[in-house]
Amino acid sequence: MALDDIRARIAAAEVAAGRAPGSVRLIAVSKVQPPERVAAVLEAGQRLFGENYVQEAALKWPAWRAQFPGVQVHMIGPLQTNKAKLAVEMFEAIHTLDRPGLAEKLARLAQSRGASPDLFVQVNTGAEPQKAGVLPGMVDDFVAAVRLMDLPVAGLMCIPPEAEDPAPHFAMLAQMAARNGLSGLSMGMSSDFEAAIAAGATHVRVGSAIFGARSYG
Ligand SMILES: *Cc1c(COP(=O)(O)O)cnc(C)c1O
Repeated sequence: MALDDIRARIAAAEVAAGRAPGSVRLIAVSKVQPPERVAAVLEAGQRLFGENYVQEAALKWPAWRAQFPGVQVHMIGPLQTNKAKLAVEMFEAIHTLDRPGLAEKLARLAQSRGASPDLFVQVNTGAEPQKAGVLPGMVDDFVAAVRLMDLPVAGLMCIPPEAEDPAPHFAMLAQMAARNGLSGLSMGMSSDFEAAIAAGATHVRVGSAIFGARSYG
């Protein structure tokens, strides 16, 4: 199945980049995919998944978690503050921490629960007006502020502009992570995960190349 092909390409990209085998985690992005496709990938042994919508994930994952021990689900879509409570109860990691108000909400939830999902700060590397994420010039201050709130910052995440070569964006994200002492780099999707691995990605988010095209509607 396509999953095996993607795993092989990740392994080859790790070798090509001189990185340790297994240093890149594959997040299978299952948003809006038909359940039978997700079930097949679970049967094939994949345990780490990415979802974009809190409500959709809340409907899908409790049953699969019960059926397949070891499942982890990461939130990779924009997170509204009013869904944060549900999100921290449901996801092992949130890749889209992109503003102070959300950080404050997550900090309050972490204090009352005594636990928090791992957090990735989303960076708008292309400074695109329509795109979420902290602007590159604000990242160091934002990471420092989030750490002061006692929240676990695992790394940085980006979605490069569609029409551009992603490699400079991946390199920029890697630099920002290094100077902030962050080891996690969530970058690379179906069309560019090998370039992301060459630049140091620790988490690649691959959807359509595993499951096939998404049909919305
Ligand atoms: C949907 C999505 C992906 C997966 O995209 P593909 O091109 O299907 O691999 C990765 N990251 C984010 C943030 C997404 O929303």
